[in-house]
Amino acid sequence: MEHSPYLLTPGPLSTSARTRHSMLRDWGSWDADFNQITERLRGRLLAIVNGSATHECVPLQGSGTFAVEAAIGTIVPRDGHVLVPLNGAYCQRIARICKVLGRRLTTIEFAEDAPVLAAAVDRALAADPSITHVALVHCETSTGILNPLQAIADVARARGKGLIVDAMSSFGALEIDARTTAFDALIAASGKCLEGVPGMGFVLVERGVLSRSEGNSPSVALDLYDQWTYMNRTTQWRFTPPTHVVAALDAALTQYLEEGGLAARGAAYAKNCAQLVAGMAAIGLRPFLPAPIQAPIIVTFLAPEDRRYDFKAFYNAVKARGYILYPGKLTTRETFRVGCMGQLGPRGISGAVAAVGEALDELGIKGREALA
Ligand SMILES: *Cc1c(COP(=O)(O)O)cnc(C)c1O
Repeated sequence: MEHSPYLLTPGPLSTSARTRHSMLRDWGSWDADFNQITERLRGRLLAIVNGSATHECVPLQGSGTFAVEAAIGTIVPRDGHVLVPLNGAYCQRIARICKVLGRRLTTIEFAEDAPVLAAAVDRALAADPSITHVALVHCETSTGILNPLQAIADVARARGKGLIVDAMSSFGALEIDARTTAFDALIAASGKCLEGVPGMGFVLVERGVLSRSEGNSPSVALDLYDQWTYMNRTTQWRFTPPTHVVAALDAALTQYLEEGGLAARGAAYAKNCAQLVAGMAAIGLRPFLPAPIQAPIIVTFLAPEDRRYDFKAFYNAVKARGYILYPGKLTTRETFRVGCMGQLGPRGISGAVAAVGEALDELGIKGREALA
């Protein structure tokens, strides 16, 4: 069986057999073969956003949040001031990181079903000239909403502010072009749209910004400047690298390029998303977000309005059929999430929809007429 079970989650996700096979050997961290993989990887990641001429790729051990925290700590100087527009849990996490790292913080709140407004960001920057950086989540994975990166990058640039982008769940599937979208730093990780396994993040940092960031970081392990200069000097990772994760990401990127790169990955996810939303509508389940602001990455569905609905029981009934769902993350509504990412093959989405329908029937959940 290629997948046991299918992960309909936003990372870890279902990887290809070829990617999993790439981990069946060991590498020495000093070895030139391994360090060549790292070097190739850094170049390929930069090329995805056309950033080779302007930016540097700094990989980092750990999950995506480690890379976000490293980016904030390294890029924002100790007397910096970060504006964080909030419309979900990952934006909240960035705000928390700023507080813990002792970086001055201002937030602007939006509803969880409303994209960040560039005009509101512009007003906040005009109202407080001491703000030095904007930190934006591109696709807010807690709902699946897409924030308008280009408009916000334009506002930040016009006001001379740095922009830090958490592109964790969009990088590699939704277009970002460093030549036209100005950013100081953009963060993503191995186990999301690139379809590697989890375990390393990476930050694409504008070269001048990175060169001037020595001494900013309040952390040793999360200092991107130090990681970068060490890697350039020695070709090696500072501290033990996640060797198998690096090899798997390299293998996943080879397949990504063979399949047609960003355009093909984005199209595959958009197809999964459309098939998912249509299939769920046919069994009476409606997405939380209106279609125009829904990114084709992960979809939040409103739980059926039936007293007998219980996420755990529902999850287990779907899992028994070979599909792993993701819990909702809203405080106001009972929801669950379904990822559109990963190597799902032709049966992934249709099988998941069938499993959801069967699970709800088994649990006796009513009130699920097909939606128009
Ligand atoms: C996955 C994700 C992260 C990182 O989460 P980890 O659990 O640390 O990997 C950060 N931001 C967004 C938007 C994400 O989707």
